Amino acid sequence: MVISKSDQYIELEQTYAARTYKPLDVVIETGDGVWVTDVDGNRYLDCLSAYSAVNQGHCNPRIKAAMIEQLNKVTLTSRAFRNNQLGPFLKTLSEVTGYDMAIPMNSGAEAVEAAIKAARKWGYLVKGIPDNQAEIITFSGNFHGRTTTVISFSSEEQYKENFGPLTPGFKIVEYGNLDALKQAITPNTAAILIEPIQGEGGVVMPPTNFLKDAFDVCQENNVLFIADEIQTGLGRTGKLFATDHAGIRPDIITIGKALSGGFYPVSAAIADEEILGLFNPGDHGSTFGGNPLGAVVAKTALEVLVDENLIERADEMGEYFMGRLRRLESDVVQEVRGKGLLIGMELSVPARPYAYELKALGVLAKETHENVIRFAPPLVISKEEIDWAMERIEQVFE
Ligand SMILES: *Cc1c(COP(=O)(O)O)cnc(C)c1O
Repeated sequence: MVISKSDQYIELEQTYAARTYKPLDVVIETGDGVWVTDVDGNRYLDCLSAYSAVNQGHCNPRIKAAMIEQLNKVTLTSRAFRNNQLGPFLKTLSEVTGYDMAIPMNSGAEAVEAAIKAARKWGYLVKGIPDNQAEIITFSGNFHGRTTTVISFSSEEQYKENFGPLTPGFKIVEYGNLDALKQAITPNTAAILIEPIQGEGGVVMPPTNFLKDAFDVCQENNVLFIADEIQTGLGRTGKLFATDHAGIRPDIITIGKALSGGFYPVSAAIADEEILGLFNPGDHGSTFGGNPLGAVVAKTALEVLVDENLIERADEMGEYFMGRLRRLESDVVQEVRGKGLLIGMELSVPARPYAYELKALGVLAKETHENVIRFAPPLVISKEEIDWAMERIEQVFE
C-alpha cells in the first residue's frame, strides 16, 4: 500500500500533538488568496478562512511585504521600551473603528480577558460596585476562547469538565432572551459580553432587534456592552462590525483573527478613554502584545480591508453566495443563515461526512456543532470562485 505524504504528516501530528483537535485530514502546504494546496498537490477552495482570520486572503501580498520589511528591522522590543510601529498601528485602528484607544494583545482569548478586566475596573471605579462583587452577564452557546476564566462562563460542558475550580463573577443567560437578560441585571452588573452572531455556536443569529434592545437595557442600567467581534468583525458580515447592522456602538469591542490577516497573532480590546483610560502602568501587559512586527502586520491588514473594499465585497458576495445556497434543492438542508460571508447551513443529519465529500471535490469547509456546515471564505473571493464552489456543493447536496 502506498502511504501518501499527507498520511505521514498526519501520523506525526497524531503522535506528537496533544489531541485537542480532530481536524479534517488535509495537510496544507501553501495558500494563495482563497486557494490552498496540500502536500500531495491537491488544490482546494478554503471556505473556513481559519475561522475568519484570513479575511484578506491567504498570504496577502501587501501584508506579506510589510511583514518581510519589518523582519529585516526589528521584531520584538517588549513594552519596556517603545517602538516606532505601535503608535501608527493604534492610530490607524482608532481611525478605522472610531474608538479612542486600544489595548493590544495576541490571541482572541487574551483580548476577551483584557475586556473583562477593563469592565471590572470600570465597574469598581466608575459605577461604584462594592469590592469583588462585579458581575458580567454572558450568553448560552457562547464562544470567547479557552483560558480558565473564559471557559468559566461557557455553556459547553466539555469545555469546563475537569478544569475547575472556575472563575466566579459570571452569569449565563439564554442567547436572544431579552427578559432573561433584564432579570439577570443587578446593581453589581458591570457588563454584558456578547457575540453579535455566534460563530462557533453554529452561526446562530439573535432575534431581530435583540442587540439593539439589549444595548438599550444596558444603557438604562449603566451596564457596559462588550461585543466580541473576534470572528464577526473586520468586514466578515458585510459591515466593519456585525453590531453596525444593529445600529449600536458597543462600549468595548474585542477583535483578533483578521486583525492580522492570519500572519501573526494580534488581538485587541478597543474602547474610549473613559474605560481604557482607567488602566494604569502595571495593570495589564503581555511580552509580545504591541510588538513592532505584529503592529506592522495589523496596520497593513486594516489598510488592505479598507483600500481593497473588502467589507463591501463581503456584503455583495455574501448575498450572492447565500442566495445560491438557499436555492439548493436538498433533503438534508434545513436552513441557510448568516450575514455577509459568515454563512451557516444547518443539516438534518451530522455534517462531518458532507465536509469530507466536499473536500474530495476541492472545497474545504468544516462542521460546527455537529449539524452545521460553515461557509466563510476569505473576503477576496470572486463571483466565479463562488460559482466554482457552488457546482461542487450542488453535486454533494442535490
Ligand atoms: C476565535 C474566537 C475567540 C478566541 O480567539 P483565539 O485567538 O482562539 O484565542 C474568541 N471569541 C470569538 C467570538 C471567536 O470566534
